[in-house]
Amino acid sequence: MPLVIHTIPAFQDNYLWLFHQAGQRAAFVVDPGDGQPVLDCLQEHDLDLAGILITHHHPDHTGGIKTLLAHYDVPVYGPNSANIPQISHRLYEGNCITLADTTFSVLEIPGHTLDHLAYTASPEGQSPLVFCGDTLFTAGCGRIFEGSAEQMYQSLQKLAALPDATRIYCAHEYTLSNLAFAAAVEPDSQALQDKTADDEKKRQQGLPTVPSTLAVERETNPFLRCHLPSLALAASQHSAHQLSAPVEVMREIRLWKDNF
Ligand SMILES: [Zn+2]
Repeated sequence: MPLVIHTIPAFQDNYLWLFHQAGQRAAFVVDPGDGQPVLDCLQEHDLDLAGILITHHHPDHTGGIKTLLAHYDVPVYGPNSANIPQISHRLYEGNCITLADTTFSVLEIPGHTLDHLAYTASPEGQSPLVFCGDTLFTAGCGRIFEGSAEQMYQSLQKLAALPDATRIYCAHEYTLSNLAFAAAVEPDSQALQDKTADDEKKRQQGLPTVPSTLAVERETNPFLRCHLPSLALAASQHSAHQLSAPVEVMREIRLWKDNF
């Protein structure tokens, strides 16, 4: 049976992800920043909450835990972070957990926050997927709030090592603004122009642009392209310094985006 993933929009531009095996009621939510939309989705699809996964401590990813635990006595999986007291199962790089008959591997991906985790899986008969919170976005990456540019670079490299077909379930609908920035970095990219046209159509129809795939991100996400000479040139021109090391290129592009 396939793994079914429901998209739950919350706040301005967050996505909470609720997944379960087709035909089974036990469902798991990723990053419930708000509880009520999750309860509504469970009711709408006749599901029971069986567990909560957390990628990092920010309130728009954790704020709904309390409400959900008031309705369901379920485990809360997440990082070993003093900022998230409700975590019942602390996870580390290389740990595996089986939820909804699917084995998820844990990656530690610090940078946006120091406690950031990703959960990756290859459900039987389906493309692989990753829940990557606020680290890798469609056409972008998270702001570096707690870690270093070096940490963010290594974390993005870890995600970039996943298979091409991996579906990227990030936690925000930032795609169009990320694509506008990516086009400033790579103004001649046909892949970016094509993706922008496709995603503008989706947004006009009220559809999410997430998930993307890693194959698409390799072509359009500047933060996964820092090893390319064209990106080094753009970053060097922007900073007025000669940059060549991919981590230096990424640091400059992230700074550029922060002020875009
Ligand atoms: Zn965050």
